[in-house]
Amino acid sequence: MRDELRELAVANRILAREGVVDAFGHVSIRHPQRPDRFLMSRSRSPELVTVADLMEFDLDGTPVEPRGRTPYSERFIHGAIYERRADVGAVVHNHSHEVIPYGITPVKLRPVLHVGAAIGGEVPVWDIRKSFGDTDLLVVNMAQARDLAATLGANRVALMRGHGCAVAGSTLREAVFTAIYLQVNARLQTEAMNLSDQVEYLSPGELARAKDMLSQPVGLDRAWEYWIARADRSGID
Ligand code: MN
Repeated sequence: MRDELRELAVANRILAREGVVDAFGHVSIRHPQRPDRFLMSRSRSPELVTVADLMEFDLDGTPVEPRGRTPYSERFIHGAIYERRADVGAVVHNHSHEVIPYGITPVKLRPVLHVGAAIGGEVPVWDIRKSFGDTDLLVVNMAQARDLAATLGANRVALMRGHGCAVAGSTLREAVFTAIYLQVNARLQTEAMNLSDQVEYLSPGELARAKDMLSQPVGLDRAWEYWIARADRSGID
């Protein structure tokens, strides 16, 4: 358990270093021994998260042992995805600026480079207003989070209109990898579309093969080692 907690704290620092999260955004893992719980930091910017900040939650977002700590108001995003998807072991929520345009226009976000295959062929967009009317756009209860999880369906990524995205991975490394290359893919797709209206996307066959390749530990672990080396881990223990 200690190793899993440390890796989760490190994931916070990596996502901050790679610019996927800023003051906001969060990452969680399903509890390794209790699939009906998940682990996530108390409400704190990911760049500052330490092992001691990590808290345990029931899937409905209730803290198991709050001890006066303030949880993230959007923790329900994580719980609802774990509740719906037994195959998901880690979730990232962020406000990556690069992905926002694809949630507020009819343009579909699609893999444009091999590592972008991690996002999958279908990236649905969830609009909180459809079921919940005018809100502050934050996902602050299970009803909203379950609606988001339903839109995510069996996919790896769901965009959240005017807000950000939710990323689900089978492992923490896979979720972090996907969140990082989701941002890269969005940036490059936007650049390509600014250059030309004839953008070449990965074919369905390429997508399947590249996604397969990316799920192998050899690539995931190499990327992880690189990201750890770049991240600021000061005070993490
Ligand atoms: Mn948010």
